[in-house]
Amino acid sequence: MMALILALQIAAAAASAPIPAFVVVRDGAVVTMVPITISGGEASVRADALMKAMHGIVITGTNLHYTLALPRARLDLIDGIPFAKRDSLTIPLNRAPQVRGGQLYLPFQFVSDVIPRFGGGGYVYDVAQAELRTVTATAADRTAPPPRTASTTPRSTVVSQPPPAPKPYTRKVVVIDAGHGGPDNGMTGPIGTPMWFVEKDVTLSVAKLLASVLRARGMDVLMTRTTDTLIALSDRGRIANSNHGDVFISIHVNAPGARTAAAARERGFETYFLAEAKTEDERRVQDMENESVKFETGANAPKGDPLSFIITDMAQNEHLRESSDLAQTIQQGLIDVHPGPNRGVQQANFAVLRGSYMPAVLVELGFGSNQSEATFLSDPDNQRALARNIAESVTAYLAHYQSRVGGTR
Ligand SMILES: [Zn+2]
Repeated sequence: MMALILALQIAAAAASAPIPAFVVVRDGAVVTMVPITISGGEASVRADALMKAMHGIVITGTNLHYTLALPRARLDLIDGIPFAKRDSLTIPLNRAPQVRGGQLYLPFQFVSDVIPRFGGGGYVYDVAQAELRTVTATAADRTAPPPRTASTTPRSTVVSQPPPAPKPYTRKVVVIDAGHGGPDNGMTGPIGTPMWFVEKDVTLSVAKLLASVLRARGMDVLMTRTTDTLIALSDRGRIANSNHGDVFISIHVNAPGARTAAAARERGFETYFLAEAKTEDERRVQDMENESVKFETGANAPKGDPLSFIITDMAQNEHLRESSDLAQTIQQGLIDVHPGPNRGVQQANFAVLRGSYMPAVLVELGFGSNQSEATFLSDPDNQRALARNIAESVTAYLAHYQSRVGGTR
């Protein structure tokens, strides 16, 4: 049977040359032929077959994460994301690893480039021979089983990590983040009058009201701050992650870029989810909310490593769809209680959303720079109505999300 499959693959590869039908993996005296699969004209290899040939294993994690555990290095991957990660190093890929028919396929680049360069040392790829080989005898090789010609029986090499113990799905954890705090006032307003509106106070007030409504509905709530204090943007997401939040909601109040009479007329509510900012207006709000970083010093200051940003961004990608759904639900709900206008769902690259590995949104409740909207947002009754409305949306979203994932995560 194997021979027939091999023959067919050789025939197929010969027809479409120059991609070889196999890569020869030579690990010490052990030689394994790992079939190359062609899909859409692109060459891939099965991760489990390749790892077995290299005395490694594929570890299947949660949320589409995989780890290639080689004897001297571990490479982390996400299905559908064109990056690999080794420790804190980000490795761009030509194509994303993909799960097809329950199997993880790696772009051929892993054989020709990624493993030789990032596989922990000692591997070279010989293009002429289509051979990936170890170049030095290592402790791992010497302790390997006696030499033999291995065949690929990949299924047995897939090791699944036990999934984390499922939470009782009747209790959801909502993380509420009151924007700004402490020395960081956020925006102040309104424009053209004495400054009596301070964003950090209104965000805290609405966040507390939102928390009490959600708790009354049987949800667990975690607040990133409950007093007038500064929490680093990067810590807000960390707080959410370490407490296994199901959703993350950051509450803010908007302000225009300029302080002109025309800018003072800007008003309305909008909800953001994390992605690259697309419009100038989205970029303005993004820059404004990310400004809080300047109040953070010492240990709180973000590392500013562009690579770690890519990784957090890529982890967040998994929740892009859910975050967008949650943003839609909240934005739609607010139409009922907010005088408007409805500025719609937006996307921007907020530092506060970046580190939270769960559906995450940022709500701009209105413009504190506008006289009438500042008055509206300062009224406790309106704050309560906004909080109740957002709570309803979160509840509806979680019920919908639960029905889609069958109550387990
Ligand atoms: Zn803000």
